[in-house]
Amino acid sequence: MESHDVIIVGGGPTGLSAARRLTDLGIRNVVVLEREAEAGGIPRHCGHLGFGWQSHRRLWSGPRFAEELRKSAKGLDVRTATTVIELSKDGQLRVQGSSGISEMKARHVLIATGTRETPRSARLVGGSRPQGVMNTGALQQHVYLYHNKPFARPVIIGSELVSFSALLTCRHLGIRPVAMLEENPRISAQRPGDLIARFAFGVPVRTSAKLISIEGRKNVEAVEIERRGKRERIACDGVIFTGLFRPETALFPTGLPSEKFSSAGNASGPLKTSGECWLQGAGAAQDIARRLA
Ligand SMILES: Cc1cc2nc3c(=O)[nH]c(=O)nc-3n(C[C@H](O)[C@H](O)[C@H](O)COP(=O)(O)OP(=O)(O)OC[C@H]3O[C@@H](n4cnc5c(N)ncnc54)[C@H](O)[C@@H]3O)c2cc1C
Repeated sequence: MESHDVIIVGGGPTGLSAARRLTDLGIRNVVVLEREAEAGGIPRHCGHLGFGWQSHRRLWSGPRFAEELRKSAKGLDVRTATTVIELSKDGQLRVQGSSGISEMKARHVLIATGTRETPRSARLVGGSRPQGVMNTGALQQHVYLYHNKPFARPVIIGSELVSFSALLTCRHLGIRPVAMLEENPRISAQRPGDLIARFAFGVPVRTSAKLISIEGRKNVEAVEIERRGKRERIACDGVIFTGLFRPETALFPTGLPSEKFSSAGNASGPLKTSGECWLQGAGAAQDIARRLA
């Protein structure tokens, strides 16, 4: 069985930063396992500006930031298209790669698997299941990675910062959202988010608006909302569910298996910026290096 000092699960800002720092601290036998075909994490498909300040004192787009992370990981053992499918207490992992399933083990395993937005299935929304319903992350992959326009007039559900990232993503391909809907009386992102949405993007923000159901046979045709005790129908051709982030804990639903494991970045706790995750990755590396000394 392949054996390492440290295995890092996830090649996003957290994982790549941790791998770089561990190597700089003299821990040589480090491997990063990343399920996507390319390392870099979420920033790979965040085509707008807003990355790199905390780590490099630069203002970059997500893909540019991801490219810098990959450059700084040059020469390290980063294995893409490799998914960890199971953890066991003694630091052992089941891993699926291009040559099938194998077992690996390490003295320490750092989980850096990031976070995910709450999908429709977990939001208890009624109606039919037409095409054109997705999270911001999936929208960004359509738009920035595959240059595909999945709809033209969607509604955006939620008003967190990431909802504004969805707006920017829409604008990139000329998609014009018909409304941004927020269940609470105030938007979740700080002011002037609602004014930016209204005046910079021409998108009305409707607060106290609860999504009841999605209509449509093949494609989305409308949504039904409840606002101040009244039902309303909004014609649209897509629904973007944004925010309500949850750490990606599919590998450890009941907690980390043993003290041979730790987590960092968005896999641990609430959503953070990519810069904060990059710093956390470096901090986790220092802790691990101390433990292994
Ligand atoms: C839509 C959107 C817009 C954003 N905009 C900004 C912004 O403007 N500025 C900013 O600073 N931050 C922004 N962020 C936040 C930023 O993207 C994250 O903070 C950062 O990517 C977190 O880094 P991470 O390494 O912890 O996780 P991620 O970037 O999510 O990386 C985790 C990696 O783990 C891999 N992985 C998961 N499970 C497994 C497994 N079982 N086996 C192998 N690999 C696995 C994933 O494929 C992924 O590559 C945005 C986030 C989103 C969703």
